[in-house]
Amino acid sequence: MKIICVGRNYAAHAAELGNEVPTSPVIFFKPDTAVLRNNQPFFYPEYSEDIHYECEIVYRIGKEGKYVQREFARNYLDGVGLGIDFTARDLQNVAKSGGLPWTLAKGFNDSAPVSNFEPLENYPDLSQLKFELKVNQETRQQGDASLMLWPIEPLIEYITRFITLKKGDLVFTGTPAGVGPVHKGDRLQGYLEGKEMFHFLVK
Ligand code: MG
Repeated sequence: MKIICVGRNYAAHAAELGNEVPTSPVIFFKPDTAVLRNNQPFFYPEYSEDIHYECEIVYRIGKEGKYVQREFARNYLDGVGLGIDFTARDLQNVAKSGGLPWTLAKGFNDSAPVSNFEPLENYPDLSQLKFELKVNQETRQQGDASLMLWPIEPLIEYITRFITLKKGDLVFTGTPAGVGPVHKGDRLQGYLEGKEMFHFLVK
């Protein structure tokens, strides 16, 4: 199983980190060891002092796909959920300034907490999904899939030109504005269309 993530998929988030809006999707990986399920706590790692939350809509792939055209992309998805793309912003900034890969800043252990997945039938219009992240009961991020620079269908088309997606793979679709640091003791809750999808602690 692999995790494919999209960076800078919301213009307002690209701007808040001082990045240009890209002309094609920015794609990176996390390893399967990044996944954290079942609302297990996230343990703050010792190698970073600036772990940021990035709440994102996550799709689970239902069957193998290569050169998938966007009008058929939905057939390759078997669930939608919500996750956090935890980012060691201090390590990422060092990598970015050296023009080096983000691998460790994005792919460290437990850097991809994910909810359970809901069947797509529950969400007929994937271009209109609203989501929200609360930290300690306070809303920090509010997202709407309609603001994605590359919605899920064109993303699947783009990714599968280069990388074959397989059953069980996850696609993180990028974060809206409002990213920020987490601290030990924080409580993170994520909502998709008003439904609580995850709820876990930072320890
Ligand atoms: Mg992200």
